[in-house]
Amino acid sequence: MAVIGIDLGTSNSLVAVWTEDGPQTLPNALGDALTPSAVSIADNGEVLIGRAAIDRLVTHPDRTAASFKRAMGSAKIFKLGSHSWRAEELSAFVLRSLKLDAETALGEEVSEAIISVPAYFNDTQRKATLDAAHLAGLNVERLINEPTAAALAHGLEDVEEGTFLILDLGGGTFDVSLLHKFEGIMEIKASAGDSRLGGDDFRDAILAMLSERHGLVVGDLGGSEKARLLAEAERLKRALSEALSVDYELIIAGKAIKGDLLRSEFETQCQPLIRRMKAPIERAIHDARIDITRLDQVVLVGGASRMPLVRDLVARLFRRFPLLHPKPDHIIALGTAVQVALKTRDGGLEEIVMTDVCPFTLGTAVVDGRSRNETVMSSIIERNAIVPISRENRYYTVSDGQTVIRIDVLQGEFIRPSQNILIGQIEVSLPPAPAGKEAVDVRYTYDVNGALEVEVKVVSTGKLVRSLFRNQSTLTDQELAARFAALASIKILPRDQQENRALIAHAERLYADCLGEEREQVKALIFWFEQCIEDQSRSDLRQVRQQFTEALQRFEMGVSF
Ligand code: ADP
Ligand code: MG
Repeated sequence: MAVIGIDLGTSNSLVAVWTEDGPQTLPNALGDALTPSAVSIADNGEVLIGRAAIDRLVTHPDRTAASFKRAMGSAKIFKLGSHSWRAEELSAFVLRSLKLDAETALGEEVSEAIISVPAYFNDTQRKATLDAAHLAGLNVERLINEPTAAALAHGLEDVEEGTFLILDLGGGTFDVSLLHKFEGIMEIKASAGDSRLGGDDFRDAILAMLSERHGLVVGDLGGSEKARLLAEAERLKRALSEALSVDYELIIAGKAIKGDLLRSEFETQCQPLIRRMKAPIERAIHDARIDITRLDQVVLVGGASRMPLVRDLVARLFRRFPLLHPKPDHIIALGTAVQVALKTRDGGLEEIVMTDVCPFTLGTAVVDGRSRNETVMSSIIERNAIVPISRENRYYTVSDGQTVIRIDVLQGEFIRPSQNILIGQIEVSLPPAPAGKEAVDVRYTYDVNGALEVEVKVVSTGKLVRSLFRNQSTLTDQELAARFAALASIKILPRDQQENRALIAHAERLYADCLGEEREQVKALIFWFEQCIEDQSRSDLRQVRQQFTEALQRFEMGVSF
């Protein structure tokens, strides 16, 4: 039975296998290697996955979810129509669909997989990924870190000893990892990143340029008009990865907008984003205490690393060309397939996993010594500290007669507390005294499961307040079994209908975009297509699909001009 490798991404997921010719990705029902990590519930209760779902993000936002990888291992609930799901379950739908794609491509049953996860995923997030696999009917003995998979895809497992920097710019995340390979073991020396920076921000930069040029207020646009503008911005961004200039012409809010965009203008607009990319790179190198001249390889992966300005940044920073792949969004999946091959041969490349590090700084807000009206972050547990860890700081009162001290429990790397994430607050009362006479000892204890215990003790009275912050949760075996049973009863859109549904979802978006006569025509087209699909006696569905696609394309041209 075949074993597959899976990249379960925030924006896109892929499945790959090892073949005689090396690792290879497998196509989904639409013929694409990339399956958008999105899930939507159709009106008849059927679950749509991938491209059909992503198109419905606009037409049916309350029945569609994407980017759920961000919530893995948290208690967050996604409400889709009448269903409530956790990130594990939504991920299970994507995994199930990839499993089926692999089975179709290989012509045999698949029950085992290796799945990649970000290096900074802690125990809870890893357990959630394993739960998702279990819910999808996949047996996963092993997870692999995404940067390790990227290194494997570039053949770096053959390097006896070396230090590699892996930069991964995806749709909404930028991950930086420093790996060290020694004696057959890949160790992650440091991990940094920006969880809110990715290719989507570069698309938004184009959106901002178009809006400014043509006096559009994006906030005033209807959902589907905004979606069309976004889709156009995405198209322009991708085109500018190849060409030095690109034309556009479309009608938005009844207004014809037309022009051309130069790559140089786009790159100027993106400078703030490029500056943001530098910070985590410098942080990872600094945390690992490595001299950049000692780096053996710099590897650039993720779909958004296709942009020349990202490649230029890396070349400039390191004064060398990074290792690149023509399909940088396939790399991690290809690496998981390499690990599959290594595992069958000799147990696979060993990794030292990063769950024993706190990936962010935990601290509290204190009054700024220079300006008493402002507060600054005071770190208690520093980023990349080995966990479990317990640290204590003492904080003093700042005003005469102060009877309360409030501890804001904060997570993040910014000096201004308001820019960091507020995890919780604890207040303790103190006896009144002159400023600086009373104090509290604040102890933070952080464990491998991502649970943070905060103790605040008033020094003079010994009064103690304690609180546990656990923003993470995993399913118990019992819950897992119950959800497994519940998911089994959910109908997933059959594979042979996926292409049809993706087309209909697309047509529905077109319908939402236009009005009057055109709208009626699109509606008639959709009805005609639906009838053809339902007609069991038709054997020319392939042709019908072709006709429908062409008609939609003609329409889109018409609408955009
Ligand atoms: P993730 O790892 O988050 O699932 P991917 O590695 O698949 O994401 O990258 C998705 C991002 O790559 C998107 O923002 C997409 O716009 C971007 N991207 C894909 N192709 C290109 C291209 N040709 N030029 C610029 N950006 C691209
Ligand atoms: Mg990725």
